[in-house]
Amino acid sequence: MTDGPYDRRTRAAQDRLATLDADAAVVPPGSNLRYLTGITAAGGERHFLLFLPADGPAVLLVPDLYETQVRAAPWVPDLRTWSDGEDPQAAVERTVETAGLAGADHVLVDDAMQARFTLAVRDALPGATLALAGPVFEPLRVRKDEAELAALRHAGEIADRVVDEVRALGPAAVGTTERELAADIERRLREAGGEGIPFGPLVAAGPGGGEPHHRPGDREIRAGDPVVLDFGTTVDGYVSDQTRTVVFDGSPAAGFETVHETVRAAQAAGVDAVEPGVTAGAVDAAARDVIEAAGHGDEFVHRTGHGVGLDVHEAPNVAAGDATELEPGMVFSVEPGIYLPDEYGVRIEDLVVVTDDGCERLNRTDRGYGV
Ligand code: ZN
Ligand code: ZN
Repeated sequence: MTDGPYDRRTRAAQDRLATLDADAAVVPPGSNLRYLTGITAAGGERHFLLFLPADGPAVLLVPDLYETQVRAAPWVPDLRTWSDGEDPQAAVERTVETAGLAGADHVLVDDAMQARFTLAVRDALPGATLALAGPVFEPLRVRKDEAELAALRHAGEIADRVVDEVRALGPAAVGTTERELAADIERRLREAGGEGIPFGPLVAAGPGGGEPHHRPGDREIRAGDPVVLDFGTTVDGYVSDQTRTVVFDGSPAAGFETVHETVRAAQAAGVDAVEPGVTAGAVDAAARDVIEAAGHGDEFVHRTGHGVGLDVHEAPNVAAGDATELEPGMVFSVEPGIYLPDEYGVRIEDLVVVTDDGCERLNRTDRGYGV
């Protein structure tokens, strides 16, 4: 394949390497390798590394038990294999020679590379300085193409379908534990066509919601509990991520309705601020201003959003002061929240795609708390 998306991406990454005056990037299995080649293998403890020179063909060192799988990928670089029982460091050194990198002096390693492989690269290239490869991949991955957007839309639709199903449980959800509801959500996401889950569904009832990253436990959902439901799925490797805060039955605590309305207004203000040329920091400010004006600024303890794509957290960073200018094709969450420790939390999250004149929401379900 010479004109497919993977070939184009590889050439774009090589151009970035040249711009950054780097000799090569080294990439293990993960989202960058998938982006470049379509290879979906999960990494492990075996040395499995793509050497992408700024100039010349890429060489992939693969444990031989992965060879058949890798040969079926959409874009297959020059393959070198090694077997269990061989010295993997010697295999890395041979691959460095094959890729023409023996004299390299500036080599970039994947930001998520395991330390053992970073040290293997360092030992194979003792004359090279190592740095992170994020600046190669982030600018390429941050703007999604049509195929990527199609997968992201589909993943969003699946999450939306499941949040509607869960909301429809209504009073029947009372008495279910957070952990049981999380398992039910996971099953529903698969049944609706999701490939997997990018993160364990978050179900945070009552006081659990006061912790932004609560882990579902054995607490039973009670009448009147605000319940934070934050989950997503994966389609073709691309993730969804949405949050709704609902009350399945009964009356929530006094003050909840105002807090919920504040978060809803903040989320709408954040989404309304999205358009090309606006900074990510301005989107954060638009949402944060609403919450601060309502007197809850100290209880909005995280950034307004994060990019999504092959990873559930990637560029851009929608945080206070971030100067990144939004461009069409960027996809990120807008997810303000208010967290009242030991009481409850409210978060509302949609993914949006920046368009030529604003944005498109990838999540469209009811943002109210009623069922
Ligand atoms: Zn989320
Ligand atoms: Zn999120």
